[in-house]
Amino acid sequence: MTTVGFLGGGQLARMMALAGVPLGITSSFLDPATDACAGVAGELIVGAYDSPDGLDRLAASADVVTFEFESVPASSAERLASRVAVQPPPRALEVAQDRLSEKRLFEQLGIETTGFLAIDSQQDLDAADRPGVLKTRRLGYDGKGQRVLNGAGDAAGAFDELGGVPLLLEDIVPFDRELSAIAVRGRDGEVRCYPLVENHHAEGILRITHAPAPDLTPELQALGERYVTAVLEQLEYVGVLAVELFQVGARLLANEMAPRVHNSGHWTIEGAQTSQFENHMRAVCGLPLGDVSARGESTMVNLIGGVPDAAAVLAVEGAHLHLYGKAPRPGRKVGHVTVTGGGGWRRIAELAGAPAGTTAAR
Ligand code: AMP
Repeated sequence: MTTVGFLGGGQLARMMALAGVPLGITSSFLDPATDACAGVAGELIVGAYDSPDGLDRLAASADVVTFEFESVPASSAERLASRVAVQPPPRALEVAQDRLSEKRLFEQLGIETTGFLAIDSQQDLDAADRPGVLKTRRLGYDGKGQRVLNGAGDAAGAFDELGGVPLLLEDIVPFDRELSAIAVRGRDGEVRCYPLVENHHAEGILRITHAPAPDLTPELQALGERYVTAVLEQLEYVGVLAVELFQVGARLLANEMAPRVHNSGHWTIEGAQTSQFENHMRAVCGLPLGDVSARGESTMVNLIGGVPDAAAVLAVEGAHLHLYGKAPRPGRKVGHVTVTGGGGWRRIAELAGAPAGTTAAR
């Protein structure tokens, strides 16, 4: 029996581990929280992500180690890699940890991206003197560590307010919509890409994903696939990777990448022939990849900060409820609902309290 070890024991690890169960794959997790929600699906090793003892126990428990998030200390990834197979390769984490390296990789691969400028001081910011989205280069997620600069004066004091750390100033993209491309690459180099999906955010957090993206043309799908495949091949990547995209007319601009299963791929559990979680497990275990085609239309609604009445959710035709077993806190992702077929997702969005503006599409 193969055991997959996870750095991180949150909902992504939990959904990967659950997908491994019918394949006869067992799981172990290293997480500092004694109540890490993946614990129900395998062996939980409680320890810090950089604790030598925890890392060694994780390595000893597993045939291959993978990640549920990218902010992994480089020294932890190296320690693991010296003891056990690690997939995706630690280099993919390094690139994804730094928005500047990520953007440079996109440019190198001919992937169109937002215009950007590296900012290392308040003087750099004053000299740039232009509107844009200011982002910390490292450790930003769900819109954290960001500031929109609309014009002169907005930049005053912004460098220190964002922590006095290296930043990136991106051009503001007047996008038509936000999409993501999720693909999986196997150990033999085969790549399969899910249909592109359309994402709606509020306060920087994903709220709703429509799959496949409405009005998805073959040209747009092909462009998204070209981008994500180029990244996977360049990094000799094994597993699932997501690239977040802005659509502007017929163009796609890459915003950022995530070297892991992605929230905008949760619909694949019921909406695709093989889920992103199962395909990640297949890939890192060296198994053949599964069919990535959609079974039809589906919409995923995130449950943020609280859980609606389960009976009300389940009364909606085609609704599939996934609760992560996490204590509700403002802004915390505690579950999601995927609605297959039909328009029942609007009722779910209402029950989930999805902000107006995220529910206009489809
Ligand atoms: P990020 O953390 O880079 O995914 O950004 C969070 C959200 O902010 C994105 O999903 C967009 O809605 C918005 N955003 C980020 N960067 C830009 C940009 N350069 N232009 C316009 N909107 C942006």
